[in-house]
Formats: sequence, C-alpha cells, structure tokens
Amino acid sequence: MKNIKDYNLDELKQELVNLEEKTFRAEQIFKWLYQDKVKSFDEMTNISLDLREKLKENYTMCNFNILKKQVSKDGTIKYLFDVLDGNAIETVLMSYHHGYSICVSSQIGCKMGCKFCASTGINFIRNLSSGEIVEQILAVEQDTKVRISNVVFMGIGEPLDNYDNVINAIHILNNQKGLNIGARHISISTSGLVPKIYKLAEENIPCTLSISLHATTNEKRSKMMPVNDAYPIEELIKACKSYIEKTNRRISFEYALAKENNDNLEDAKGLVKLLKGMLCHVNLIPINKIENGSFTKSSNEHIIEFRDYLNDHGIVATIRRELGSDIEAACGQLRRKNLKYKTK
Ligand code: SAH
Repeated sequence: MKNIKDYNLDELKQELVNLEEKTFRAEQIFKWLYQDKVKSFDEMTNISLDLREKLKENYTMCNFNILKKQVSKDGTIKYLFDVLDGNAIETVLMSYHHGYSICVSSQIGCKMGCKFCASTGINFIRNLSSGEIVEQILAVEQDTKVRISNVVFMGIGEPLDNYDNVINAIHILNNQKGLNIGARHISISTSGLVPKIYKLAEENIPCTLSISLHATTNEKRSKMMPVNDAYPIEELIKACKSYIEKTNRRISFEYALAKENNDNLEDAKGLVKLLKGMLCHVNLIPINKIENGSFTKSSNEHIIEFRDYLNDHGIVATIRRELGSDIEAACGQLRRKNLKYKTK
C-alpha cells in the first residue's frame, strides 16, 4: 500500500480525482496530516465515513514507532525510529535560541564512504521515501509538542543521492496549508555530487546548500572522502560558483577539523585561495571521533586560530556549536549500531 505522506498537495489532489472524489478533500486531508498531525484516518472527522474507508483501503499513514529516545545534557534529543520494514533510522532535534531545528536522515545507510563518518560503517540499504523524510518531523513534533522551524538534511545518507524524494519532501514541508516550513529554513548538505548541484540550481527552491568540503587539495580530500575521485575539488567549486550565480544564494562550506590532518596553516591558506570572492560562509566543525576512526579533534585554541585566520583574510567563518555529543548525536555520529532492527 502507498504511504499518503509521500504525496505533495498537487499529487494528493490527483489521487483524490483517481478515487472519484473532489479535490478540496485533498486540502482537508493535508490539513489533518500536517496541521492537526493526526495518526489515523478515523480522526479526520470532516471527511465522510465512506471516504475514510476508501483511504484506509488505499493508503497507509506510516506512523513511525520510537524505538529509542535519548536526551542530552544540552537538551538535544536523538530518536531511533522504526521505519516499519525492519529497518531503523536516526533523527536529532536541537534547540537553539531562534527555535527548534531537526536533523533528518535521507537514506538508510550511505554509499559515500567518508572515512570520518559513522554512517559509513553500515551498508546502504535503501532510499527513504518523501513521506518517510516528512514523517521524521511529524513524529518528533507529535512526541515533543514543539514547533520545528528549521530542517537540515545532515543525518544518515547523501540527500542528493536521493534527489527526487528529497525535493518532493521539501515541497511537502513548504506547503502553507501543511507544515509551512519555508525553504529558507531548510538546508541540504552534500558530500559534493556535482551533477546534482547543477540540477538543484534549476529547482527554484531557496534552501541553503551546504557543501562538505573538509580539505583543499584533491590528495587530502580523496583520502577523507572517496567521492572526491569522481568529482574533484575544481569541478565541485565550479559547480558551486555556477549555483551561486544562478540562485544568488550563499553557500555554506562545512569543514571538519581533524588534528594534524587538515588543520594547519597551509590548509587555512588553501581555503582562502579556493573560496576568496565567493558568496559563502565556512562552518568549522570540531571533528567528532567515531568508533575505530583515525581522525581526532583539533584543540579548541587551534580551531579558534584557524577561524581567525579565515576571518582576517576575507572569508566569513564560524565554529559550529557542538550539540548532543554525549548521546552520539553530533555531526557524523549517526548510526553505527541498531540500524537493522529485528521486528520479529
Ligand atoms: N551526506 C551529506 C549529509 C550527511 S553528513 C554530506 O556529506 O554532507 C552531515 C555533515 O556532517 C557533513 O558536513 C559531514 O561531512 C559531517 N560529518 C560527518 N562525520 C563527521 C564527524 N565525525 N565529525 C564532524 N562532522 C562530520
């Protein structure tokens, strides 16, 4: 059966037409799902019993079960969700002074193989559907009763490797008759799938694009991120420049600092050279050590020096606040254990 949350509003209208129903019913259903956040068709009380039965016959609601919930000292909450097919994914809710931000997964597992990332320890299983991406937000809002204002695609998976479902999920999130999360409050993070960056530039979705850069020479970047062999730095930067030109939007470059690997003065100089003049921002992340990983965090003083060097040389750089590291909810720590959940 199909998941009703996989459809954006226009598609849902078409589904209703196929069921020989009026299209305004789609708007009612959409409101029940995303504003009232009901968990069953029976709760949609302004819809006739007949139609509710039809809906039940044709669609599932895909309500995730919470397998595990961990709360960090800093208030960050990590969820392990049962995605109803024996698999599980992680989602993280973070609280900032400007509101609540959620870090969603886009795939079960990841194909990218970044050496410093915990998601690399698991095999790729499958893409999440649009509805499964949206459900992470719904399930967390249902559980916590907070309103989530920002969404970042920085959980498990490579969002641009699940392009269509991610874009459709954004259309569902954006809809004012639904969750009404504006594209400007959504960030897509990519390890650098160049053709998809060009494609995204054509979408007319004003979301933030984050690029996981992490190194400034191909030799170093390829050692950290095998995807660099397919799309080396020059091609990546060219795509980023084209994206900025097309969208007039600032790109955010992620740079995880690993001690004596990519954190010396040469690296800082390399970044200045690479990014000078671009409409961009650098997000420095103290690298989080993962099980069996060889990269360790640079010292705080060193990270500050690195940031200051960039700022002094015309590159806007900030250090990302670390949230949830005590519950393995920080960047790159998502899901090594428990990914495959046995329902039986
Ligand atoms: N596949 C996407 C999104 C998921 S990772 C991407 O690569 O961008 C989200 C961010 O966390 C990326 O910038 C990623 O490089 C970073 N990251 C992964 N492992 C990390 C670690 N151990 N420490 C710090 N950041 C890490």
